[in-house]
Formats: sequence, structure tokens, C-alpha cells
Amino acid sequence: MSDNKEHGLETLSIHTACGPDPSTGARTIPIHQTTAFVFDDAEHGADLFALKKAGFVYSRLTNPTVGALEEKLAALDGGVASTCAASGHAAQLLVLTALMAPGDHVVSSCKLYGGSVNQFAQIFPDMFGWESTTFNPASAEEAKAALTPKTKAIFAESLSNPEGVVADIEGLAKVAYEAGIPLIIDNTMATPYLCKPLDHGAHIVTYSTTKFLSGHGNAMGGAVVDGGKFDWSKHADKYPRLAKPNANYNDMVFCEAFGPAALAIHNHAVGLRDLGMNQQPFNAYLTFIGLETLALRMQKHCENALEIAQHLESHEKIAWVSYAGLSSSEHNVNAHKYMKGQGGAVFTVGMKGGYDACTTMVKELELFSHLANIGDTRSLIIHPASTTHSQLDSEARAKAGAGDDVLRISIGIETTEDLIADLDRVLNMV
Ligand code: PLP
Repeated sequence: MSDNKEHGLETLSIHTACGPDPSTGARTIPIHQTTAFVFDDAEHGADLFALKKAGFVYSRLTNPTVGALEEKLAALDGGVASTCAASGHAAQLLVLTALMAPGDHVVSSCKLYGGSVNQFAQIFPDMFGWESTTFNPASAEEAKAALTPKTKAIFAESLSNPEGVVADIEGLAKVAYEAGIPLIIDNTMATPYLCKPLDHGAHIVTYSTTKFLSGHGNAMGGAVVDGGKFDWSKHADKYPRLAKPNANYNDMVFCEAFGPAALAIHNHAVGLRDLGMNQQPFNAYLTFIGLETLALRMQKHCENALEIAQHLESHEKIAWVSYAGLSSSEHNVNAHKYMKGQGGAVFTVGMKGGYDACTTMVKELELFSHLANIGDTRSLIIHPASTTHSQLDSEARAKAGAGDDVLRISIGIETTEDLIADLDRVLNMV
């Protein structure tokens, strides 16, 4: 497509980087299931290795099928470029390796997905020497108070998994701007259908594409979208990998050579090259095709989730529902500001019958799959206290929002009446 900026999300999600293939006329993209790419001649090979020419060398760094997905993801968020990774966790690691050194610090939301909490609180400090301090994502003041001279980024989920806390993206962007550091937003739960963090001042967006972007529970993946607006050269001492000579590439300075796409190119040319967490072409293909129906799916996910959350909120067996789409939610104001007034597809409920009622629900429901995922066309359910958070004691579980009485539900795009009937049938048993 000639000028992406003119088109709406639905058009971009179908037409961006989508052929037809010039050599065969194939209407949709081929899966380039190849490890390496033949050079035209010796000079071509040398130029590709020195990053003097764009092109394909080896699929750990770049691959045409993965590249098509990267182009589409950048277009959907209004970024300059993006980099796909093997998973959402890999994307988070990838972006931070470009920005952080041992002893550095990141300010991270206290409402991250549990696996990310573990990454930031345990693994990053233990393995890489990256310290973190948490803050409430709805409070820019708390983020500001957590900054240290070593802070290299602020990281938050736009819409948190699972409680649906909506981050104050504009407030956080202002704090980041004043501190001369980038704001990184994990937009996995919202997707560009509900929220475009770059439009609210964020500098970088990360995804677990495993969830709503691929949308069918069949492809692991992650991505880092580079907004292209952060001026690395102004903060060269803080971000030497992007703004100082790189000995591996003939002392090239990434932000001088690649301008606004410096981070995205670094993520390929150094991050993926040296850490090796590239996305596989078949997964990229599945996500690329899944994205074609992103808007349709998200609309139905949100409509279904709102109707079911409202139904459960007034059900006698349910103590509470935590869903930003409900007008009773404390996050509803920010949902109007950042999420088109909607709450996405995931929420938590508190069962009056406690632990036993939760285990009956996950056992007896027929249309809800009991598993550890979100963002599938199918409705999904999990009881964190007996699964993902079972290693914690009950006090720690309650603090993490995973008390004995909590169920996490990811609403699919099935017929709403059928989902409600299934829930009511089992609620009658507890
Ligand atoms: N971010 C969020 C909001 C998630 O929900 C998840 C996984 O559930 C991740 C990141 C990690 O993604 P992945 O499982 O693709 O590594």
C-alpha cells in the first residue's frame, strides 16, 4: 500500500505488507521456511553484513515472512518499524537489552501479568543485574517517585492482565519525557483496536502476539514496536548501544545510521543476532493472517465480555467483578480516556463460595477451557490459586490478586447466550 497513514485499522490489518507475491502472484504471503538467503555476489554479501544495504542474510536476524508481520504491526500502532521475537517475554527481554546495563534500573508497574512480575522482580536482577521498583500504573506520581539516576525506562501494561487496571499513559509519558527516558507500554490486552499507546506519548510498545493479535491460541510470538520519537542522541551517555560507536559494526552509531528506526534495527542486528530469540516464520504467518480479523474479533470479545461481566456482577453467587468496562469500575474513567470506554476480554471475579466453588467452576464448565492463556477465540478460565500462583502462600496470593476465591476469565467470541447459560448452569452447583 502506498500511504498507510490514510487508512483505518481494518484496512491496514488486511492490506499492509500483503502481496500479491511478485514472483508467483500468490495473493497472501508465502511462508519463507528457509534458514539463509543467497547473496547476489561478494560485494552484496559484504554490504548486508555491514548493514550498508537492507536485505536478508540469516533467519535469526530477519526473514521475509516475519518481516511482513513486523511491517503490519508497526503500521497498526503508527510506529516506524517493529521487531518480532519468539514470545512476549522474549520481546520484553529484547527491548531492555538495548537500553540497560548491569546496575541499571527500570520502573515497572505493580500490575503486570504474573510471568512479567517474575521476570522483572526475580530473573532480571538475578541474571542481568537490572533492578526494578514497582508503581501503581494509574498513578504517574508514583512512577516519578520511583525514578533513580540509573532508571533507563518506565514499563507498564496499558490494560493490565488480569484485573484490567488502565495505565495513565499520558501522565507516565510526561514523567518519562521529563526524566529523558522512554515509556514502554505492553499493549497485549488492549491491542491497537482499543488503544494506540504511541498516540498518547509512549515511545515503545511491546506485545505478546500469542494472545489477541494472533487470536486463535495457536502461535507463540512477541513484538517490540519502535515509535521512532525518542531522541537517543540527546541521551547518548545513557543509551550507548544506540547512540555511541558500535565496535561490532565498524564503529557505526545506530541512531546516526538509522535515525528514528535505530532501536528497531538494533533489535535485529544486535538483539536477535546475539540473543537468538527470533520468531519462527510459520508462527509469523499464523499471526499475520490472524491480524486480518483483529477488529472484528476484538469488537465481539469486548461486547461479549461486557455482557457477561454485567451478568456476573448481579449474580448472587459472585462477590465482585473486576472489569474496566463496567461503569462501576474504578478504572472506567481511564478506560474512557484510553480504551474507547471498553474493557477488553479479560476480567477476574470473586466467588462467594471460595476455593471449592472456583475448582467446581473450572471442572464443570463446558464452553470454557481450563488453561493458562488469554486472547483465544474460545472462552478460557483459570483458577490462579490452584495453578499459576499455587507456589505462593495464601497471603502472598491475595496480595497478587490471586486469592483463593478468584477466577480469571478470558471471554471468547462464541454466542453470548450460550456462554451465560454455561456459567449459570455451573453457578447453580456451587
Ligand atoms: N504480557 C502480557 C500482558 C501477557 O499476558 C503475557 C502472557 O500471558 C506476556 C506478556 C508474555 O507473553 P508470552 O507468553 O507470549 O511470552
